[in-house]
Amino acid sequence: MKRRDFLTTTALTATAMAVSGCHRAEEKSKEGTVNVNKAKKVTLKLATSWPAHFPIMGTGVDTFAKRCFELSGGSLEIKVFPKNILVPALQVFDSCSAAQIDAFHSGVYYWKGKNPAFSIFGGMPLGLTSEEMITWLKFGGGYELWREMYGKFNLYPLIGGTTGPQMGGWFKKEIHSLADLKGLKMRIPGLGGEVMKKLGVNPVLLPAGEIYTALERGTIDATEWVGPALDRMMGFDKAADYYYTGWHEPGSILEITFNKARWEKLSNEHRAIITAASEEMTGNMLQEFRYKNAKAFKELPSNVQIKTFPKDMMDAAKVALSEVLKEESKKSEDFKRVLKSYEAFYALNKPYDDISTKNFLEIRG
Ligand code: CA
Repeated sequence: MKRRDFLTTTALTATAMAVSGCHRAEEKSKEGTVNVNKAKKVTLKLATSWPAHFPIMGTGVDTFAKRCFELSGGSLEIKVFPKNILVPALQVFDSCSAAQIDAFHSGVYYWKGKNPAFSIFGGMPLGLTSEEMITWLKFGGGYELWREMYGKFNLYPLIGGTTGPQMGGWFKKEIHSLADLKGLKMRIPGLGGEVMKKLGVNPVLLPAGEIYTALERGTIDATEWVGPALDRMMGFDKAADYYYTGWHEPGSILEITFNKARWEKLSNEHRAIITAASEEMTGNMLQEFRYKNAKAFKELPSNVQIKTFPKDMMDAAKVALSEVLKEESKKSEDFKRVLKSYEAFYALNKPYDDISTKNFLEIRG
């Protein structure tokens, strides 16, 4: 993997040098410099699970496509189709697998029905942060497993952004203890939803467009979404007063995934450009989330009360999570393998992180 990264970086450097020097290269075209301007024009169709130009996620993929075009000297055009234009939001995986589209931008945990192991590539409740997740995927063996398992669906995944720590969600009533969760209906997907189920919550999945109305009318009692910036856009602060701090999505990973056969047919230069642009998108998205969440948090209206879930609930969540992981490992050999890799990195990372990042944040206060 490291070798592959090195090769990719090397290829990109060569490409970037070719791009920056392309005018000179054209003037001296007999010198045989690689010139991506002369590469065969390729157009790819990419569908997303977000509305057009949706802040941070949607605009992130728009910028990714623009950067691929720029870096390739116009030889790589990625046409971005927002949700429901070419394919419904949650059918992008199947559609790309069947080569009806070339690529998609979405959230990994949406596909746990395809293979329960996929939910781990998307992030773990009470687990790794965004930066730690990326480190596991790139250096700790995560990418190899992800690519092997997506390969069975004729797909090739790249990290396509990450949210940073997400908030725990909006509740219409305050949660004083674990007992207050019993029977609550909450929109919460993924492993976090599985944990909540064990704590007595009835987890529901609703399309983005229906969540606000359901919360406002009391059809659901609570919902999680992302963080202050995107949550305020959804208007949740007008439907619920209690905004809880996060635990269930400390570092959710988004994906930019290609049809594998199509990916393999791309030139080395185009693959290097896409890989580099996806890394740029991931960094930008994390920084944009950090900045916009900080700003939106400062501007939350006065009805909003920031709360942290009670200790008995979080203690029960830890127990419930280990039960969920055990159950999923029994049901799925792939889940067990991915969890083993994830836990090995977790164990490697934690001791030094505790005395570096965590310790520093405590000192900084
Ligand atoms: Ca979320």
